[in-house]
Amino acid sequence: MNKIKSNNYLVKAGLFFVFVFLLYSINIMAQDNDKQFPKAKTDAEWKDILTPFQYQVLRESATERAFTGEYYNTKDTGTYYCAACGELLFRSDTKFDSGCGWPSFFEPSSDSSLVYREDRSYGMIRTEVLCGGCGSHLGHVFDDGPPPTGLRFCINSAALRFEKDGQEVK
Ligand SMILES: [Zn+2]
Repeated sequence: MNKIKSNNYLVKAGLFFVFVFLLYSINIMAQDNDKQFPKAKTDAEWKDILTPFQYQVLRESATERAFTGEYYNTKDTGTYYCAACGELLFRSDTKFDSGCGWPSFFEPSSDSSLVYREDRSYGMIRTEVLCGGCGSHLGHVFDDGPPPTGLRFCINSAALRFEKDGQEVK
């Protein structure tokens, strides 16, 4: 009898921990959805800093027309930063010629450079790429890229600021 009681207790304790774990998971997911970005600003502040077109792309998720951006054909060696907050995003040695008309990279400079979000606009399911520093829209990532990652980060030139190696502008 005692044994049955203690088993019962274990089951109850187990269920309790599962319940706590579920609550914890839901809490983490909620935090991820409205993640506070370290370099976040208000809309008014962004409007002060960005050009109207940069604002449309970075803050309203607009996409520049293919083959019109400043960097889709850039082959210089250097570093690509977020045009909004200056976060280091991509190195030129991960840039490749995808032919799609936007700057394309197969890997971000670090895991924390980018944040991903499901994008169901325009009747497609895509993965939106946001700046890990400020949460601004950069572009999308697709799984048809080259090795070693197989990823294609398709990024708006307007969301980037490029600095050639040896010519850093402070
Ligand atoms: Zn940024």
